[in-house]
Amino acid sequence: MAETETKTERGGISVEIEHIFPIIKKWLYSEKEIFLREIVSNACDAVTKLKRLVSLGEAKNIDEDSYKITVSLNKTARTITVTDNGIGMTEDELRRYICQIALSGALEFIDKYEGKNENDANASGIIGHFGLGFYSSFMVSKSVDVITKSYTGAPAVKWECKDDGEYEITFPYEEDVERGTSVIMHISEEGDEFLSEYKLKDILEKYCAFMPVEIYFEDEEKEESSTDEDENEDNKEKNTPSPINDTHPLWMKNASECTDEEYKEFYHKVFKDYREPLFYIHINADYPLNFKGILYFPRLANEYESLEGQVKLYYNQVFVADNIKEVIPEFLLLLRGVLDCPELPLNVSRSYLQNSGYVAKISAHIIKKVSDKINSIFNTEREKFEGLWNDIKTFVEYGCIRDHKFYDRVKNSVLFEAVDGSHVTLPEYLEGAKEKNENTVYYTNDKVAQAQYISMFENAGIRVVILDKIIDASFIGMLEHEHESDGVKFVRVDADIAGALKDDGAIEENTAVADLFKKVSGVEKLNVKFEILKDTSVPAILNISEESRRMEDMMKLYSMKNDSSIGAFPVDTTLAVNCANPLIKKLISLLDNSQNEKAEKIAKQIYTLSLLSQRRLTAEELKSFLNESFGILENI
Ligand code: ADP
Repeated sequence: MAETETKTERGGISVEIEHIFPIIKKWLYSEKEIFLREIVSNACDAVTKLKRLVSLGEAKNIDEDSYKITVSLNKTARTITVTDNGIGMTEDELRRYICQIALSGALEFIDKYEGKNENDANASGIIGHFGLGFYSSFMVSKSVDVITKSYTGAPAVKWECKDDGEYEITFPYEEDVERGTSVIMHISEEGDEFLSEYKLKDILEKYCAFMPVEIYFEDEEKEESSTDEDENEDNKEKNTPSPINDTHPLWMKNASECTDEEYKEFYHKVFKDYREPLFYIHINADYPLNFKGILYFPRLANEYESLEGQVKLYYNQVFVADNIKEVIPEFLLLLRGVLDCPELPLNVSRSYLQNSGYVAKISAHIIKKVSDKINSIFNTEREKFEGLWNDIKTFVEYGCIRDHKFYDRVKNSVLFEAVDGSHVTLPEYLEGAKEKNENTVYYTNDKVAQAQYISMFENAGIRVVILDKIIDASFIGMLEHEHESDGVKFVRVDADIAGALKDDGAIEENTAVADLFKKVSGVEKLNVKFEILKDTSVPAILNISEESRRMEDMMKLYSMKNDSSIGAFPVDTTLAVNCANPLIKKLISLLDNSQNEKAEKIAKQIYTLSLLSQRRLTAEELKSFLNESFGILENI
């Protein structure tokens, strides 16, 4: 007989509990799985607290190698149990921590968000639903038992609580109980989906993969059915369970202690990407920011893939959520990485975080680290940097557009790839352009379609850079804005004839030729200009001014024009007629000799070919061009 008589006491957790349970259930409906994170992180805290007491000499005779947490499932009994061998609770502590304090914490939480969060969508306004703690277990349970024994050796106590808030305390609880706490959740119908090994492991993998105490998963029924055969030495070895988590994640170490291999391995494991990352940045910010993390630049397969970055936010090694744009600058979400911010206030609304000075400092620090890394590779390993450029270009350009501070930091490391495969920075380009095209950057957005224009520029010794990504148009706009005072302009090769392409000599305007081109083009407002081009092989070039083309592109983007009109004639188009070209000379002489019909045929052909260089033939134009070409061939 035990000396102290075991008492069983019934109670109800204050009147307010009636409000809490329904709200917890209703609100967090879509995020039910976080109950496991909450219960396991409580277990983790309990072990961490005990470790601290041991280190302070306040807890003695503790086997320090045995710290662990076990999550066990029993489908038949419909229970999920989380057991730790941490600090445990005395009867008094249980009453204070579980019945009162936790409750008031939950009440405060509900007070803050009730009314604002009538439905699930709004409940997501709270990042990761931190702060609900122990009571989140009721989202999936019809009753929860806590059996706990304090490290002090005080007798164990059992607490059983139903989802209406009625509880029963048994003290002392005379079963054979070891130090620590077991939370036994009796799963309700709403929690059915969690009675699955696969599901539980999945959740543990998501939220608990880096918690600081070893976590083991156990299927109680499988354990029971294991036979003696399994107990022989060989099988024992095989069956030695391994923890589901890594208690010392790489980001917690100092960068100097980590190897390249470890960074890559961590990347493959966490992001399930078999490709090597391009490079990484280990951030270890001391007081007062106090956060750690690793950011990876992923290798991209194509332009669009970059938009699927993933930055995981942790709170003391507990996963909170992916891609929290309130904490991480939006453009950095194109990267992959982990950030552990233990100082971050998480049980607050997203809008609070957005305006928090602490978060702003975190962002600024990350941006500084990322730009330092980019600049350092650019400055010390230019060749390597050029090799990486294609993969990081979209990220860097997007960052520059979204964040002026980032632009300011990296602007001298931004590269442009030229059609000949070389790379230049803007200052380098402008330096080289001083003589022939001062402050004008010539670019192409389609190397194939604009090949004829490009070769004219190249022959004249003018560098043409490739700006063919969707983001480039905005990037150019931003750069021009930044360089407004020095007048730097980006001009597409088919927009303008650079001075350097022209030869000296007296230009003879010829109204008859101009009229003829207007006539064959069917465009009355066509500007016809006479030039002497160095490249004598080209009879005429069609130019569409940079501004009017950008305007047209913008209209297309905003669907102000429908697709069928893409081939329609844009405004501000100039046909530059090359007086130095033999065919043009022939045309002039035909007109002089009144051989108008022949002249018209040649003019039409020249005009259509120049249109073709712009890829602007409509179906009708193409048809008539082909017919006329066949006609010409017949007469040869
Ligand atoms: P929080 O963890 O945010 O304090 P909880 O409602 O999750 O809120 O828990 C309330 C308290 O109950 C904890 O602060 C802790 O003192 C106690 N507690 C919960 N789980 C355990 C456990 N596994 N071992 C020891 N104490 C626990």
